[in-house]
Amino acid sequence: MEVRVENVRKEFDRFPALHDVSLDIRSGELIALLGPSGSGKTTLLRLIAGLERPTAGRIFFGDTDASEKSVQERNIGFVFQHYALFRHMTILENVSFGLKVRPRSTRPPAGEIRRRAMELLDLVQLSGLEKRYPNQLSGGQRQRVALARALAIEPGVLLLDEPFGALDAQVRRELRKWLREIHDRTGHTTVFVTHDQEEALELADRLCVMSQGKIEQVGSPDSVYDKPTSPFVFGFIGESSELPVSVDKGDIWLGDRPIGIAGAQAQGQQRLFFRPHDIELVEGGAALAGVVASSRRVGGTRRVELDIGGAAHRVEIDLPFDHPAAERSQIAFRPKRWALFPAT
Ligand code: ATP
Repeated sequence: MEVRVENVRKEFDRFPALHDVSLDIRSGELIALLGPSGSGKTTLLRLIAGLERPTAGRIFFGDTDASEKSVQERNIGFVFQHYALFRHMTILENVSFGLKVRPRSTRPPAGEIRRRAMELLDLVQLSGLEKRYPNQLSGGQRQRVALARALAIEPGVLLLDEPFGALDAQVRRELRKWLREIHDRTGHTTVFVTHDQEEALELADRLCVMSQGKIEQVGSPDSVYDKPTSPFVFGFIGESSELPVSVDKGDIWLGDRPIGIAGAQAQGQQRLFFRPHDIELVEGGAALAGVVASSRRVGGTRRVELDIGGAAHRVEIDLPFDHPAAERSQIAFRPKRWALFPAT
């Protein structure tokens, strides 16, 4: 099912949680709503679900205007961060619930409900645990039950609100891979809320990056990571270093020194962004040069803080872990990839 959000605004007591948001969600895609706390991700998800009504704007499911339709009419599968499983029901009963409570006219026969629930438990790799109760499962297993329960009603759209937020890092990573596999097999249109960049980059077909109630950028993980269209997205989607530069006829200068980058499209005062790992060390020629202020291990690399132009500017760059960078040593480098945004 394709979902179209058109010029949606949402206010809570006059506070605008979303300003004029438009988003086309493609049929069968897994799209991540990504942004810092308070950026409006959950509000957008709840509007799509029908748990909130827009202050202005419309939401279409396929060609149907769903703006006034109830949650049930929208046929939504929902998974929240905190497993909202029914504690007094077994796993099998939890997964069957959505089908059992259907009106008689659309309810499958009991045997069929059971068969479908068992199939879903198999899909989420929990076969054999169907007689257990939620408190007899781990957090990761409970979220898998929640997903099976959401899928049982064959939803047109699956909405996931930080479903792995309460789990530890390793379980999160496993469930991410697992969710991607399930999505590839079942093909549900899925909207996934997260504030975790790595999770969004790994999981999603497309990212919708949000900030302060607005959509900043929508695109594939590669396009958003490699071609961020704003300083906010550059800094939010990965690590970044920034320098105030000027551009003259394509050459980039820091103060009165060219830094060895040509071909810039912009002109005048700019903000230069690059990623700490995306640099090359150079010897001689125009480059950025600075003095090591500190260094620490980050995973398999050495993250170095470099003071450029005395202590006028400080940036971070990554060096190979065995690089003999000591305090006060001189390092010259060029960013391999970079972005410029006008200084305002
Ligand atoms: P988080 O990652 O922390 O969940 P979020 O990006 O999902 O954040 P929302 O929960 O959508 O953000 O909230 C967006 C803004 O709207 C916040 O400033 C929040 O305080 C406000 N807000 C959300 N729900 C309500 C409500 N029911 N009443 C009043 N304000 C609300």
